[in-house]
Amino acid sequence: MQTCIFCKIVSGSEPASVVYSDEKVLAFMDHRPVNAGHVLVIPRVHVAYISELDEGIGAHLFKISLGIAKAVRKSGIRCEGINLFVADGEIAGQEIFHFHLHIIPRFKGDGFGLRFGPKNLFKPSRMELDEVADDIRKFLKK
Ligand code: ZN
Repeated sequence: MQTCIFCKIVSGSEPASVVYSDEKVLAFMDHRPVNAGHVLVIPRVHVAYISELDEGIGAHLFKISLGIAKAVRKSGIRCEGINLFVADGEIAGQEIFHFHLHIIPRFKGDGFGLRFGPKNLFKPSRMELDEVADDIRKFLKK
């Protein structure tokens, strides 16, 4: 019994307006779009988070997403810019816990956006930036 709405779309038990489909990924229209032309791209296999996503599938998913973004630009949909967006984790705004990449057409005055919080006033020094870079580098796969 599937409970994940995106898995139901993959299996065909829930409808979707499909933009692209292959053996690894599926792209379809967001049914609650930020703007017209808002597409979601998902792996066919259920994974909730970036940390669970196979790198080969992730690379393929991004390649397909770039092609869709270019097509959105050419399609005549109102689109002065595009955001590619992934919400990884509830605090980041993830609502459906099946990895998905948003392709969001943007135009002046659409009212959408990410806002900096008060921490944006924080201006780290080069030494602090180097330390954080070092912390991250330690955990990169060689
Ligand atoms: Zn799923």
